[in-house]
Amino acid sequence: MKKILVTGGAGFLGSHLCDKLLAEGNQVICLDNFFSGHKRNIAHLIPLPNFELLVQDATIPFQLSVDEIYNLACPASPRLYQSFPIETFKTSILGALNLLEIAKKTGAKIFQASTSEVYGDPQLHPQAESYFGNVNPIGPRACYDEGKRGAETLFFDYHRQHQVDIKVMRIFNTYGPRMSATDGRVVSNLILQALQGEALTVVGDGNQTRSFCYVDDTVDAMWRLMNSSKTLTGPINVGNPLECTILDLASLILDLTGSKSQLTFLPATADDPIRRQPLVDLAKNELSWTPSVSLKDGLIQTIAYFEKLLK
Ligand code: UDP
Repeated sequence: MKKILVTGGAGFLGSHLCDKLLAEGNQVICLDNFFSGHKRNIAHLIPLPNFELLVQDATIPFQLSVDEIYNLACPASPRLYQSFPIETFKTSILGALNLLEIAKKTGAKIFQASTSEVYGDPQLHPQAESYFGNVNPIGPRACYDEGKRGAETLFFDYHRQHQVDIKVMRIFNTYGPRMSATDGRVVSNLILQALQGEALTVVGDGNQTRSFCYVDDTVDAMWRLMNSSKTLTGPINVGNPLECTILDLASLILDLTGSKSQLTFLPATADDPIRRQPLVDLAKNELSWTPSVSLKDGLIQTIAYFEKLLK
C-alpha cells in the first residue's frame, strides 16, 4: 500500500483521482482549501479508513512523508482564475515549490497537473509537446498560463538540480460528472442551460475549437504516467484528439438533452485560444494510452450528473 498525497483532491479531477487511487488499494491524503473544490465531491470518501482530508492551502509550507504526490491544486476555470489572478499565480508557483521541497526531502515521486494553456493561443496546430507556445504574459489568462509554465520550470529545475523524480502532464480540456456548476466552463454551462430551458451562451462566433476528454480517460493517463519508468518525466500531452467547435458541442448537447433552447452569442473574450487539439503520440507510445470514451457517451454521463444535481 502506497501513501499518496493529492493536492486539489476535492476538485473535479482530483476527486476522481482519489477514487482511482483508493480503488487501487492505496492510502490517500487529500489536501484542499475548498477554494474551487467542493465537499460534495469527496463526501463518499470521508468514511473510508484509507482516506484522509487535510484542509489546507498549498501555498503555506508544510511537512508530510508520502510515497507519491499528485499536484492538482489550482483554480482551473477561466472565470475563477481571472477573478482571483494573484491567488491563482501564487497557488501555482508557491504550491509547486512547497511540494517539490517535500519531494526533495522525502524522495517522493511527484506529478504536476500542467495544462494545454501553456501553449496559449497556439500558432502551431495541433500542439505537440515540443511547441513552446504563444502566451501573452500580461493578459487576463497569464496568471494561469504563466503560473503553470513557471511550475513546469520549477519541476524541471528540481529534477536537474536535485534529481527529484518528476512526472509532468499537460492536460487538455476534461469534462465529466462533478464539474463545478458555477465556474463557467463551456460543458457545464451549456448542459445546465439546456436542462433549464435557458439560451445556450456561445462566446464569440462559436467556431473556436476545443478537444474534450472524458474524466475517466484523463485520470487513467495520470495514473499511467505516475507508474511509468523513471526516465519518463514528460511533459506529456493528454487529451482527446477529436477537435470540436463550440457550435458543434452546443448542438450535440441540445440533441442529447432534447432541449428546445436557442443559442445566444456573447462577445469574444481576450486571448481566448481559437484552436486547441493535442497531439497524443507520446502518450500512445509511452503509456499505451488512448481515450476510450466518445464525446457522446461522456456527455450522456455528464448530463445525467447535472440532471441529478438540479433535482
Ligand atoms: N465558452 C462558451 N460559452 C460558455 C463558456 C465558454 O462559448 O458558456 C467558450 C470559451 O470562450 C472558450 C471555450 O468555450 O472558447 C472553452 O471555454 P472553457 O472555459 O470551458 O475552457 P478553456 O477556455 O479553459 O479551454
